[in-house]
Amino acid sequence: MLSYRHSFHAGNHADVLKHTVLTLCINYLKEKEKPFLYLDTHSGAGRYLLQSEYAEKTEEYLAGIGRIWLQDHCPELLMPYLSVLQYYNRTEKLKYYPGSPLIAKQMLREQDKLNLTELHSTDYPLLRQEFIKDKRAKVLKEDGFQQLKSKLPPESRRGIILIDPSYEIKDDYQNLPKALLEGYKRFATGSYLIWYPVINRSQTQRMINQITNSGIRNILQIELAIKPDNNQKGMTASGMIVINPPWKLQQQMATILPWLREKLDPSNIGHGLIEQLVAE
Ligand code: SAM
Repeated sequence: MLSYRHSFHAGNHADVLKHTVLTLCINYLKEKEKPFLYLDTHSGAGRYLLQSEYAEKTEEYLAGIGRIWLQDHCPELLMPYLSVLQYYNRTEKLKYYPGSPLIAKQMLREQDKLNLTELHSTDYPLLRQEFIKDKRAKVLKEDGFQQLKSKLPPESRRGIILIDPSYEIKDDYQNLPKALLEGYKRFATGSYLIWYPVINRSQTQRMINQITNSGIRNILQIELAIKPDNNQKGMTASGMIVINPPWKLQQQMATILPWLREKLDPSNIGHGLIEQLVAE
């Protein structure tokens, strides 16, 4: 049984990084009129109330989006992300944090499609409710990894695939590269966005090595650490592995990441990293 609830973590530093990358990738695909598929394998509940007992228990959002929201002089490239937050928060008070499905819901166009999967028995109905009137979306209580086999390639032959497990099940570290390869074999031109935490560096690195040694081309890594690696409990860093990134993404993140680091790692003890791991 799954016990991870993203509501404890919504809006933390990892979400800020992940959702910034996501919004830049979505905007890139929107540069062409042609439709595309947004496939979100591990969707979560969609919307998170920041004044809930969950969010207030950890207050992770205060050290994440809380440090960025209402800042003057944000980099222009953060505006797509911040505009979505403004859409869901009509006043200056940050009440809701939109998860990846709601970010996509707001940014995608009429011609685009969403395929969302979530297995948690409490979060799935919440997610389904968010999309009940949205004809573009299919919301399924199915295994997200399986979607990479069954839903690819998309009819439109264009797509963003967000793979964002909780890694609550340790097998996720092994299952992810296998499932990814199944998707890539079917749809080698899609943009795959894979989120990873750094809790145990060697465990994360093993998964990244498996991906980079799989034959998949054009892999970019983006990481933001708010602390040095250590042996204690808790996440010190998170990152995105992006396969077939939009050509602008590396440069865009090189502009944004130092600013994000300044806000999210004010003691300057972590690091930022942008690296092309495998060439085109
Ligand atoms: N992508 C979301 C976002 O950015 O707002 C957050 C997702 S959260 C990190 C991971 C979610 O995956 C959890 O809600 C968990 O219940 C769900 N989950 C875990 N294993 C799954 C699986 N095999 N298939 C689909 N969902 C799964």
